[in-house]
Amino acid sequence: MAEYDYDVLIIGAGPGGYVAAIRAAQLGLKTACAEGRETLGGTCLNVGCIPSKALLHGSELFEEAAHGTMAKFGVMAKEVTLDLAVMQGQKAGAVKELTGGIEFLFKKNKVDWLKGYAQFKDAHSVEVAGKTVTARNIVIATGSSVTPLPGVEVDNDKGIIVDSTGALALDRVPQHMVVIGGGVIGLELGSVWRRLGAKVTVVEFLDALLPGMDGEVRKEAAKIFKKQGMELKLGTKVTGASVKGKKATLTLEPAAGGAAETLEADCVLVAIGRRPNVTGLGLDKIGLELNARGQIETDHDFATKVDGVWAVGDVIPGPMLAHKAEDEGIAVAENIAGLTGIVNHDLIPGVVYTFPEFAGVGLTEEAAKERGEIKVGKFPMLANSRAKTNRESDGFVKIIADAKTDKVLGVWCIASVAGTMIAQATQAMEFGATSEDIAYTCHAHPTHSEAIKEAAMAVTGKPIHI
Ligand code: FAD
Ligand code: NAD
Repeated sequence: MAEYDYDVLIIGAGPGGYVAAIRAAQLGLKTACAEGRETLGGTCLNVGCIPSKALLHGSELFEEAAHGTMAKFGVMAKEVTLDLAVMQGQKAGAVKELTGGIEFLFKKNKVDWLKGYAQFKDAHSVEVAGKTVTARNIVIATGSSVTPLPGVEVDNDKGIIVDSTGALALDRVPQHMVVIGGGVIGLELGSVWRRLGAKVTVVEFLDALLPGMDGEVRKEAAKIFKKQGMELKLGTKVTGASVKGKKATLTLEPAAGGAAETLEADCVLVAIGRRPNVTGLGLDKIGLELNARGQIETDHDFATKVDGVWAVGDVIPGPMLAHKAEDEGIAVAENIAGLTGIVNHDLIPGVVYTFPEFAGVGLTEEAAKERGEIKVGKFPMLANSRAKTNRESDGFVKIIADAKTDKVLGVWCIASVAGTMIAQATQAMEFGATSEDIAYTCHAHPTHSEAIKEAAMAVTGKPIHI
């Protein structure tokens, strides 16, 4: 009889866990994946990336039809009305198809889905749904959940104070939505409900939106979202909330201290970040400690301090992004199989899927300056022929390069398709490109991506179209 039930057991079937499971099985390892949710795919497929993008797409179509963008091109859609149930139905359909797709891939690759929440008994065994299962290697891929805000209690069922999961499931368009947190979730979901007709106020603790992004991009983001009609209360904190009937009253204070004010809303979205899922895992049974941020630390191979226990995705340090989790999932499976799995954590692109999109990879200008002398090239979308033709000229591309070597250190884009554009920048940087390499690469015309070529030309001061 085999020493263990499985070669690899993965806890959690989000982008980190399910990808690790499929790759491990592809490499010939006997693999199981424990998932407590009813469906596979984790936060991303069930209540994250996929449903939010479905609503972002639907609401963009609605806004284009209802607010004149289509009419500008002579497409006259009279009396545009919203059937929110249909839009929510499309979202549910996408989620169902994609989560079902993972179930199909598990079967195809012979990954056993252990239904239930797993808890460690020791470093090589877990209990799932009352059964003990053993494995030579166990990968923790339990992901993250919403960070609560003390004094502002979320109740998704009531739909008045909600988190991202509740905000994705609203069955009415709020009159006034207050978003607490001007980060990615706040701006994406705030955009959805603003486009569908809500007045949206964003309350952000810091003086700028989108922490982690380049300073100039963060400033431009505030201008763009204000122009679209969002009210921004920057440098402001929420100190409490009360609900009466169908209304919430929030108490706000300047972050630096000062006089309090109140704000009424019929929907409040709490989006102040996410924290790793570690409770109930039984980490004490295997002697695995957390860092000060409640995360599981790993080495470069995604091995924890406990022999045979590995970890990937939102539960370990780094940006909480699906593609980062997926790449780590592939790498950990390859490392377990004795291959060399590597993730370049310096080049994880980040995208905010609003309109326009905000995307970046590598260093911000601020961080690059701290490391040494730099050159910066910028090109406005206003001067890009395709953006101008489409009448979507907000934004710019900015390329930061090392002053001596010309090696590209960071690329930032604000453009309608910035999320697609950033892939070429990431690939160029992965290959160690200089700004000159990008400037002398032929880009198809007319495309938004030509703005990346022109920004690269601007690094040495010679763009053509401005
Ligand atoms: P998760 O996806 O969180 O999966 C972990 C899984 O583990 C869960 O299904 C959970 O049920 C399960 N689990 C936990 N504990 C146990 C246990 N003890 N036993 C068994 N199962 C367990 N990222 C992007 O890159 N692009 C986006 O557009 C994007 N949009 C987002 C929108 C929203 C609204 C949210 C909330 C997040 C979004 N993210 C996005 C972030 C992305 O969802 C996460 O970074 C990603 O899902 C992390 O993957 P993971 O595998 O580490 O964890
Ligand atoms: P976030 O970290 O992006 O933003 C949270 C914001 O809340 C920050 O700006 C922070 O300063 C602010 N904040 C914190 N406490 C506050 C308070 N008391 N009052 C007011 N503001 C406060 O977090 P998020 O938007 O909740 O997203 C969570 C994670 O999900 C992120 O790590 C993100 O990467 C991921 N995500 C990614 C995407 C994407 O890739 N497009 C989309 C959604 C979510």
